[in-house]
Amino acid sequence: MTPESIVIAGAGLAGATAARTLRAEGYAGKITIAGTEQHHPYLRPPLSKEYLLGKAGEDAVEVAPEGWYADNNVGLLLGNPVASVDPAAHSVRFADGAVQSYGALLLAPGASPRRLPVPGAELDGVSTFRTIEDSRRLREQLASGGRNVVLIGSGWIGMELAAAASTYGNRVTLLGLEDIPLATAIGPDLGSFFRTLHEDNGVRFRLPAAAREITGESGKATAVVTDTGEHLPADIVVIAVGVVPETSLAAAAGLEVSNGILTDASLRTSAPDVFAAGDAANALHPFTGEHHRSEHWSNALNGGKVAAKAMLGQDAVLDVVPYFYTDQFDVSMEYSGFPSLAAKSAPVIRGSLESKEFVAFWQQEGRVVAGMNVNWPRSAKPGAQKTIKALVSARTAVPAEQLADESVPFDRLLSEFS
Ligand SMILES: Cc1cc2nc3c(=O)[nH]c(=O)nc-3n(C[C@H](O)[C@H](O)[C@H](O)COP(=O)(O)OP(=O)(O)OC[C@H]3O[C@@H](n4cnc5c(N)ncnc54)[C@H](O)[C@@H]3O)c2cc1C
Repeated sequence: MTPESIVIAGAGLAGATAARTLRAEGYAGKITIAGTEQHHPYLRPPLSKEYLLGKAGEDAVEVAPEGWYADNNVGLLLGNPVASVDPAAHSVRFADGAVQSYGALLLAPGASPRRLPVPGAELDGVSTFRTIEDSRRLREQLASGGRNVVLIGSGWIGMELAAAASTYGNRVTLLGLEDIPLATAIGPDLGSFFRTLHEDNGVRFRLPAAAREITGESGKATAVVTDTGEHLPADIVVIAVGVVPETSLAAAAGLEVSNGILTDASLRTSAPDVFAAGDAANALHPFTGEHHRSEHWSNALNGGKVAAKAMLGQDAVLDVVPYFYTDQFDVSMEYSGFPSLAAKSAPVIRGSLESKEFVAFWQQEGRVVAGMNVNWPRSAKPGAQKTIKALVSARTAVPAEQLADESVPFDRLLSEFS
């Protein structure tokens, strides 16, 4: 049965993509998107890359042109989030007190930056990084160069911000709990590749090191003190220590929550007619038979599409091979596959890390479970990303020598092993 009206809690990529998909599928009923932020739905990846670097403007971050929502009769309640859900009554209450019933509800509230409980975290010059305002403010702070910048957190966001801050000519120090940055995500060799890239561009690392305190004068940050007692001068401090999925709304409504809002592969939650997508959803993935929560752009995009189709009663499942990308200095990287399956194996490399042009394949019992292409020519046909995804989906064992051998073209790998 097609629902008469649909409410979407979360005006981000997953929520806006769901609305666009609903209209593209011919849904003519009422759609309401409620969001916490005052902005039309926007993309976050450019915030720590080209938007922060001033290479892309506002249009590069829009999920849809501003006029699309009115033109398509989609109600957008900005700055008026969903405050509570009553699954039995099939209704939501917005922050302004208004109550609205729904035939189907999509929860797409994203995630929030994890806070760091250290003294001084409230000083001027210290911030987390998630929103377009965070990016604008940091750009203003960084743009003239010459400042002392300390990044706390050696994950993807910390590394991207370090690259941007250094590109603007600031003195950048990055500290994190790992021995090697990104090692938990991509292993020690490739984590070291990114560390070298940053060091070659002037970024200093303190690893492993924890921030013990942020000191200041007249309310402004002046230094980060590490657990070894080192004082790192700091005018600007960004805390980038991961995110926490927004589950409070779902939990208060009695939905099943565990590392995110639990869903089946069609993104249905434990409550009838309530779906979840994006960073907040922990969805059953048909490939592994396990739940996966992904904090990446393509998961929000594909999840928004699948949730919309599932809300319309179509047979849709989120079964795509996970994907994300990063740009740091002169390195463009794309990763496709299942980090949880890749975690234990060392990658097979095609190309060379020294030339900054390579593809890394991770295998489990001979099958490719993940791959990462770095600066691999985008003109290559078939592309590295497409090849990796096809090999992962095929679940066929591939000899490591053939993965590493550049004289074996990708189309041969695909014809023999997918
Ligand atoms: C700086 C940055 C860089 C990134 N770079 C990359 C990258 O290079 N590659 C990549 O793959 N991924 C990247 N990501 C991750 C990617 O942006 C996220 O996975 C994606 O934004 C998730 O989309 P979402 O719609 O689930 O959540 P969000 O984009 O967070 O949107 C959710 C929205 O819902 C709002 N909300 C919360 N609670 C409620 C409520 N109760 N009612 C209504 N609204 C609510 C939130 O305020 C938010 O505006 C990056 C993220 C950040 C922050």
